[in-house]
Amino acid sequence: MKIIMLGAPGAGKGTQAKMLAAKYDIPHISTGDIFRANIKNGTELGAKAKEYMDKGLLVPDELVVDLIMDRFKADDCKNGYILDGFPRTIPQAEALDKALTAVGESIDYAINVEVPDENIVNRMSGRRACVGCGATYHIKYSPTKVEGKCDTCNGDLIIRDDDKPETVLNRLNVYHEQTQPLIDYYSGKGVMREVDGTVDMQLVFDSIVAILGE
Ligand code: ADP
Ligand code: ADP
Ligand code: ZN
Repeated sequence: MKIIMLGAPGAGKGTQAKMLAAKYDIPHISTGDIFRANIKNGTELGAKAKEYMDKGLLVPDELVVDLIMDRFKADDCKNGYILDGFPRTIPQAEALDKALTAVGESIDYAINVEVPDENIVNRMSGRRACVGCGATYHIKYSPTKVEGKCDTCNGDLIIRDDDKPETVLNRLNVYHEQTQPLIDYYSGKGVMREVDGTVDMQLVFDSIVAILGE
């Protein structure tokens, strides 16, 4: 099964993708997580990506496309994957289609997690990320058992550089201009499905499972 998670920054794509990956036993591939790992490890790719990420801008398509095509070669992708944060532009979606078509495959579903802009800044300002394992929490909606420490690995929690309110507003604009057109793109292919992302995480999950099937 090949799934794409769509939605504004902070809509809950990562949260849902993690739960879905566990349920369907397919990898959760987050381009944002891959970039953040590269930044942490001081790679050349990380340095390039950081320039854009810190401003709330998208990393250039060619960097992202090469990276993801490489990721698909890994053994764990043979039964499918959940893409979180890719594609984010029409050229990225076209590159993905071309690569899949070449091997006789296609995307099964694109799931749009719908959350209005006015909820987003609130979501992002409370988001906390674990430096150890990348797990995401929210100070109000998904708190850790011990404040400031990851439930899974006991790593320290941080506020992402790009979750500052002014950067979040940039990211929302970028989302509307460059990523939202993908909703029409995947509607045209008959694979687009929408879920209400404003309700409790578990309820969002249930509605996605209702679409994908047990
Ligand atoms: P969020 O989940 O909050 O939307 P991500 O972790 O997906 O954030 O992405 C963080 C940043 O990484 C983006 O703002 C962008 O700069 C960069 N990025 C991630 N995926 C892509 C992509 N597919 N194309 C371009 N830039 C990307
Ligand atoms: P995205 O990957 O789309 O950027 P995340 O999954 O990181 O979004 O979620 C953004 C923030 O909102 C996180 O702090 C997360 O804990 C919280 N969150 C996710 N889903 C919900 C929900 N249904 N209700 C309330 N908060 C949520
Ligand atoms: Zn952790």
